[in-house]
Amino acid sequence: METYKLYIGGKMVDAEAAKIYPTINPYNGETIAMIPQGSAGDAHLAIAAARAAFDKGPWPRMSGAERSEWIAKVANRIKERQKDLARLESMDSGGTIAKTGADAFLAQRQMAFFAEQAKKYNGEAKEIEGLQRAGRAFNYTIREPIGVCAQIIPWNFPLLMAVWKLGPALATGNCLILKPATDTPVSALELAKIFHEVGFPEGVVNVITGPGSVMGKAMTESPLVDKVAFTGSTEVGREIMHKAAGTLKKVTLECGGKSPNIVLHDANWDIAVDGSLFASFYHQGQVCESGTRLLLPRDQHDKFVAEMVAKLDELKLGDPLDPETKVGPVISERQMRAVLDYVEIGKKEGAKLACGGYRVTDGALGKGYFIKPAIFTDVTNRMRIAQEEIFGPVLAVLKYGSEDEAVDIANDSIFGLGGGVWSQDVDRAKRIAQRMRTGTVWINEWHILSERAPFGGYKQSGIGREFGDDGINEYTELKTLYVDDAKTRDNKPWYDMLVPRAKASS
Ligand code: NAP
Ligand code: MG
Repeated sequence: METYKLYIGGKMVDAEAAKIYPTINPYNGETIAMIPQGSAGDAHLAIAAARAAFDKGPWPRMSGAERSEWIAKVANRIKERQKDLARLESMDSGGTIAKTGADAFLAQRQMAFFAEQAKKYNGEAKEIEGLQRAGRAFNYTIREPIGVCAQIIPWNFPLLMAVWKLGPALATGNCLILKPATDTPVSALELAKIFHEVGFPEGVVNVITGPGSVMGKAMTESPLVDKVAFTGSTEVGREIMHKAAGTLKKVTLECGGKSPNIVLHDANWDIAVDGSLFASFYHQGQVCESGTRLLLPRDQHDKFVAEMVAKLDELKLGDPLDPETKVGPVISERQMRAVLDYVEIGKKEGAKLACGGYRVTDGALGKGYFIKPAIFTDVTNRMRIAQEEIFGPVLAVLKYGSEDEAVDIANDSIFGLGGGVWSQDVDRAKRIAQRMRTGTVWINEWHILSERAPFGGYKQSGIGREFGDDGINEYTELKTLYVDDAKTRDNKPWYDMLVPRAKASS
């Protein structure tokens, strides 16, 4: 069994206190590897390494083309190791091998995309239109890296979340410290090995593991860190923003959701039923933008729910490494208990379980954290199961009458991450999409996120964007330069230098 190391300042090192902890496979509770349990001291070492690399090292001073080559080396190595990374990720996180295989494929494609993007970030000048003073001055902006970035990621898409953080930060010339979730550290530590193997300039990338409450605090409060990029719960996001305020760090947050999924009367059920199952139950519902509130037309409700229930019933729960498995375990015992607590809350609130909602312990499944996917009907939007993020396989179904009512219910949430509309009248669906207060809306689709398109939350789902030009620019500062060639001067005293020249009398 492997005992991993922290990656700090270009070296593989043990945690300062030499502590390690087991990371387990949520399918069978077995330990898959030993992980360094870092402390605040390790976080400070990593921060110092990143700071030195940014202030004195070659990385931020390289051309975009050179940075691109380095990032491409990492992308190629991820590509070579795709299968192996998917297998490790399945064991560490409980994601089915189909899901983690897709993640590993996307991880290499997205890293390659960021390698391409790096070529554009050269500190190149962009002229400011309409501001050039005849012949003697040139005014322009340049984009520069922010500096040292602390990056904290969750356990649901550990490999992909790492790439989403590393890629844009590196493309734009930043140095960083990445901290994966305690439950799923393996893929980030494997990435650390890849950076080490390719001989990445030291201190540019640092990967540390250990409790978020301790290491995250050090990362968010340190005056040596310029930006915190966080993906995780809204609750921790709030805390991070609060702590980062002490040094006025740049903050981007990708937090929770309770995404509304509106099925219109004319939806094509051939795709809407499966699509709604995909929206809510992919990866056991442990996806931030899952469509966890399904809004159905009152008169179609019963039949639509019956079709979903029938399809859910057939699914095989099992070992995530078995290609036949369609439903893996949830991430941990703690998460399983939290999800099952929500099932009880829903029942007490008066919602009715149409299926699932209990732990499955048949045979080998008894060693893992399996929950039979649950659908609640008779839900009203005021219930906690409609308002709070459960982050597990629990769908709340609500009925609506008019289109206006559907939109009102959809928007009645503190969250605004994703949303969806199913209809064959795409123009009507687009009109509804415009009324939804969410960062992404899918029409007859779900879960598609392209590295070329911005992703992020309205309201309490987050601040800032990832992906697309807007997402990459979140890792840059914008500098404006006013330049005078110093060859002539206006014949004005210093205290009148901003006073416009008197116009010729008209
Ligand atoms: P979490 O508890 O908020 O943890 C996320 C990360 O933050 C982990 O690395 C965690 O470390 C760390 N952390 C915990 N407390 C911290 C603190 N006080 N200061 C700094 N860092 C701290 O979330 P999770 O349970 O892992 O993930 C599920 C949540 O992530 C859901 O709410 C989901 O919606 C959200 N999510 C959002 C997106 C998005 O793009 N919007 C994507 C994926 C997931 P430890 O593991 O050591 O506690
Ligand atoms: Mg694990």
